Amino acid sequence: MGGERFFPDEMPVPSASAETAGWWEACLDHRLVVQRCLACGTTRHPPGPVCPACRSEAAEWAELPGAGTVYTFTVVRQAFLPALADTVPYVVAAIEPDGGGGARLVSNVVGCDPEDVTIGMPVEVVWEDISPELALPRFRPCADGGAVP
Ligand SMILES: [Zn+2]
Repeated sequence: MGGERFFPDEMPVPSASAETAGWWEACLDHRLVVQRCLACGTTRHPPGPVCPACRSEAAEWAELPGAGTVYTFTVVRQAFLPALADTVPYVVAAIEPDGGGGARLVSNVVGCDPEDVTIGMPVEVVWEDISPELALPRFRPCADGGAVP
């Protein structure tokens, strides 16, 4: 892959747990997945040990197409670390991935002016390789829609 970077190394990254390890492994392969209950089909994110709908512990990783929409977002204008002074403003967004059954991911919208981001905007996943052990999904406006100039 191209090794596109959107944030500096100083940007803190999420930590993995036993329950989220499968999700992070899929990210490393650049596959966007969501945890789906094998008993009732309810999806959930972040991953957890028990289905919130039926209490089943049986679940699978359902692969998603990688497109989605902006459910809601905020523009971060204040650098919370000095190293991020050149990174602000940037967008933190709740993304509703297509095929995700209503599950939402907290991520970033990149590749456009933060002022152009809107609720309901169609976006697609773009992978940021942080290290050999970690890749993060960010989202950018779809090439055929949204706020691409
Ligand atoms: Zn269930």
